[in-house]
Amino acid sequence: MLNAQGRKSRPHDAGADDGTIETFSGHRGLVHEEPLLFEQDQQGRSGVDLPEVPRHKTRLGGMERKAPIGLPGLSEPQVVRHFVRLSQTNYAIDAGIYPLGSCTMKHNPRLNEKMARMPGLGDLHPLQPVSTVQGALALIESLADWLRTLTGMPAVAMSPAAGAQGELCGLMAIRAALTAAGDPRKKVLVPESAHGTNPATAVQCGYAVEAIPSTDDGRMDLAALEAALGPDVAAIMLTNPNTCGLFERDIVKVAELVHKAGAYFYCDGANFNAIVGRVRPGDLGIDAMHINLHKTFSTPHGGGGPGSGPVVFSEPLAPFVPVPYIRHDSAGFHLVERQDDAEEEGIHSFGRLKGFHGQMGMFIRALTYMLSHGGDGLRQVAEDAVLNANYLLASLQDVLSPAYDGPCMHEALFDDSFLKDSGVETLDFAKAMIDEGFHPMTIYFPLVVHGALLIEPTETESKETLDRFIATMRALAQAATGEGDKTRFTAAPRLAPRRRLDETQAARKPRLRWQPETAPAEAAE
Ligand SMILES: *Cc1c(COP(=O)(O)O)cnc(C)c1O
Repeated sequence: MLNAQGRKSRPHDAGADDGTIETFSGHRGLVHEEPLLFEQDQQGRSGVDLPEVPRHKTRLGGMERKAPIGLPGLSEPQVVRHFVRLSQTNYAIDAGIYPLGSCTMKHNPRLNEKMARMPGLGDLHPLQPVSTVQGALALIESLADWLRTLTGMPAVAMSPAAGAQGELCGLMAIRAALTAAGDPRKKVLVPESAHGTNPATAVQCGYAVEAIPSTDDGRMDLAALEAALGPDVAAIMLTNPNTCGLFERDIVKVAELVHKAGAYFYCDGANFNAIVGRVRPGDLGIDAMHINLHKTFSTPHGGGGPGSGPVVFSEPLAPFVPVPYIRHDSAGFHLVERQDDAEEEGIHSFGRLKGFHGQMGMFIRALTYMLSHGGDGLRQVAEDAVLNANYLLASLQDVLSPAYDGPCMHEALFDDSFLKDSGVETLDFAKAMIDEGFHPMTIYFPLVVHGALLIEPTETESKETLDRFIATMRALAQAATGEGDKTRFTAAPRLAPRRRLDETQAARKPRLRWQPETAPAEAAE
């Protein structure tokens, strides 16, 4: 069975003895096979004793529920164990290296968490009167100031909830600027190596997308860009460093060409970790860029928390930012929440992108991270992230196949040519890593590389962790390409609580509801 990317979603037929260990209990070691809460249901069991409801006259006019709502009956220890056991089948950045390329899965410092939970911050409500949240607004402004300084850009919109929404924010500002100039355009240029959110954002904004090919050295083809630019192009969306983990050397030239064509330069800033403190995107001629606080600035993501994607803007786009934004005068901080009010200050805002003011918890964590590192510390973050990635690249380049020559930025990209004729594919290799205790890297992305393996260690991994990772990857590569049994790959993962899932079926026919074997009303009787 192949999924949309053309990769296998089932392991090859592993034969009768695929190495699976059967147990009497169904558990594997101390990791339990955990049923759903609904499957553990014992009606009438409860973690609390509630007093009988006194007899009363209902005023619901016959609208009251006739049957129980079907919540499972469970004791407190059952519920606690259920969630702890589920957490034990999961993998997290707190458990070990999480080398997903393009995701910057770095350690979330505990100090950030402490700050976010402080009374006065943790219990804020977005509808509190502005006079009672002056400190919180000062904190947002202080973070905004760091972002403006680190990027060399004059304006920043704080409200976007994640990178993808930041892209939407950036393109909506570009569209507003072009519309205001009486020059609405139709096309957005996106390099082939781009993250899927870039073309998706352009389409959401009503633009046609034109792909720009990459050259053999993993950079955008400048000649192809020049040929594609014209009076219909609204913007280019470029990632730098790009998703091949390489710095776009011609970026200043790109900005010149784009501006000469009357278009705007949107930069996907998801890879800012590689250059923070070393390069200011404003100096490169960028007009708008989102910053994933949950990547570069260490706030939790994935299953761990909401994202946050502030967008910085150049001078020409600064008058088109979304509401709300913060103003500061002698009376203190206040929020400009309405488009009419913004208009009075010369801001032709495209409107509101999101309820309230942004992800406050993430702002606190990101600012804590910045203040605890300082400017010099942030610069070192970028240097160490690039050093770690190059250490991996150099240590693996003779056994895996690097996609491009030369050093990389913060992530190392390999293709699957080292697996040629081995009977093992990138997916099998990634699954075998799970049996070895490592979360796999990003695979099959970027699409410009065949069978891609994209590894991003981040600066928070120690040399010892990297050495263990390298030793395992080398051993796996030798096993994959050598003679002998490949079950280790084709049947992997053999030691995980679940083997391979049928991704295609899961995506096409998701089963989102648990159906009881008997209807709840009957079960309750
Ligand atoms: C993560 C990422 C995004 C999307 O960011 P979210 O915060 O997940 O919405 C966009 N582009 C690139 C290159 C990314 O790595």
